Amino acid sequence: MSKSLSGKIAVVTGASRGIGRSIAETLAAKGALVAVHYGKSKGPAEEVVAKIKAAGGDAFAVGADLAKKGAAQALFAAVDQELKQRTGDTKFDILVNNAGIAPFVNFADTTEEILDEIYTVNVRSLFLITQEAVKRLRDNGRIISTSSGVVRTPLPAVAAYSMLKAPLDNLAKSLAVELGPRGITVNTVAPGVINTDMAADFVNNAEGQAFAISKQALKRIGQPDDVADVVAFLAGPDSRWVTGQTIDVTGGSVITFA
Ligand code: NAD
Repeated sequence: MSKSLSGKIAVVTGASRGIGRSIAETLAAKGALVAVHYGKSKGPAEEVVAKIKAAGGDAFAVGADLAKKGAAQALFAAVDQELKQRTGDTKFDILVNNAGIAPFVNFADTTEEILDEIYTVNVRSLFLITQEAVKRLRDNGRIISTSSGVVRTPLPAVAAYSMLKAPLDNLAKSLAVELGPRGITVNTVAPGVINTDMAADFVNNAEGQAFAISKQALKRIGQPDDVADVVAFLAGPDSRWVTGQTIDVTGGSVITFA
């Protein structure tokens, strides 16, 4: 694998499993030092760090519960401390806002508490983490957030989640313009159904799989590395002229009326 991210430092939220784990491993394989963020359980994040190191890369784990107030400060206190030790300052190059929750609940059954929780983790924390990151990002840096295909084609079974992914695409456009003079690009990726814990209800039964595949041009279930490879492109030098965009990573889901 080419070391196109050699010398770069990346922070990946929600990197202890699923898509985030694959993103962390892919960026590290391309040469980046990766901060592997986790929410509550350190063990799985340390396993990701160990796997990256065993493969010849470098990484460290940082914890912060994004459902709590002050999460962005807590995350960057940990990142800053580690980076100061390693590099002498707190600058880094690539932020991947990947952490998220998707409670499987329809419009009528969505309580105020569920709505608040989705907003807090998926939108509020992401906004505040990005604010902190921008203070530390080097010129020509990268911000990539994991949006979802449900912004383009909402899934009524997760109406609030679908609605609350749209702000990520919107923010990317504002920030792309604001940070463009510094050469920083800001994009989102929009995965379809991907084989992770989050999509287990779809992926782990034949009916769900058949439903998802029936909507896609490409006839298999997406895997975490299908998304991670696109994030790695956006994180690397070859995407330098792409900003303020949402890259659809759905295997061509619902792209015609057929
Ligand atoms: P996942 O459930 O396996 O991973 C979610 C990650 O977010 C985990 O690492 C988890 O620890 C972290 N997280 C959740 N709540 C947190 C909190 N309070 N504090 C800190 N971390 C927290 O799911 P995934 O499929 O890997 O999802 C990754 C991203 O991709 C999410 O933003 C999700 O919305 C998005 N996405 C997933 C799919 C899919 O089909 N799997 C489709 C479209 C978009």
